[in-house]
Amino acid sequence: MILIDGKKAAAELREELKQEVLQLKAKHNKVPGLTVILIGDMAPSQIYVRNKEKSANEVGLKSEVIKYPEAVEEKTVLDKIEELNKDENISGILVQLPLPKHIDKQKVIETILPEKDVDGFHPMNVGNLSSGYESSVPCTPLGCYLMIKKIEPNLSGKKAVMIGRSNLNGKPMAQLLLKENCTVTITHSKTKDLKAECLEADIIVAAVGIPELVKADWVKKDAIVIDVGINKTEKGIVGDVAFDEVSKVAKALTPVPGGVGPMTIACLLKNTIECFKRSQK
Ligand code: NAD
Repeated sequence: MILIDGKKAAAELREELKQEVLQLKAKHNKVPGLTVILIGDMAPSQIYVRNKEKSANEVGLKSEVIKYPEAVEEKTVLDKIEELNKDENISGILVQLPLPKHIDKQKVIETILPEKDVDGFHPMNVGNLSSGYESSVPCTPLGCYLMIKKIEPNLSGKKAVMIGRSNLNGKPMAQLLLKENCTVTITHSKTKDLKAECLEADIIVAAVGIPELVKADWVKKDAIVIDVGINKTEKGIVGDVAFDEVSKVAKALTPVPGGVGPMTIACLLKNTIECFKRSQK
């Protein structure tokens, strides 16, 4: 079984991006800039944002975090986004989710210029991805995609099953694999026989949020299994896949932690650099 080492894959990607930033700096005399807006003091968000900033600095991007208290007015945030949209030194804008209830998530997402939307959540980017045009792609599925491609460069004709249909994971992941000519099934909480769907799959991407939902007898021998789930349990953080048993049947499997998570952040940096490059065209 191939243990897909997300930490190593992310370190390799960061090294590639670092070289690219150096080349871009030499060519354009400036580096891509990423601005993250963090609202409130939720611990996981604070940790994510700190990791994002650290990684951005590591590859040589200009990065900035703008913090607002939980009670900040929606208008203040939207005005700041408008200001960042106009700032030529900012290539990418990310507003860390989740947001406090009084702030309209969709309004925030749609205020970010699609060209600076490093999360790939703007409807324009969602549409471009599903139409097969150039777009920012949400970081987590992009990371999963890059790891799958490393294991299996030719995905044409493979049967891929997404577990979960969120805008963040399942749907964009399905689009990426469809583009690779996979036959894609998107399953969700109302799917009748999830086990039977999974047993058909050459590739399973689990993004559900249910600890160890995917068991060994759901997985076809030699399937590639990507575990996006992050679940806090009594025995610590576990994924959506029962790692020990599935590792005995799968061809390749991502661990939790140390799989999809590190690649997600590296892909945010990649997206920032792609936005910068498109802006220079
Ligand atoms: P979500 O809650 O938005 O979506 C969950 C999806 O799972 C829904 O589409 C729902 O229909 C489906 N679902 C629920 N119960 C199901 C069942 N019994 N069978 C089949 N499908 C079912 O979640 P999300 O934002 O996509 O996140 C999913 C998981 O991935 C969470 O554990 C989250 O913490 C994790 N996550 C990890 C990363 C990372 O970088 N590793 C990034 C984002 C999310």
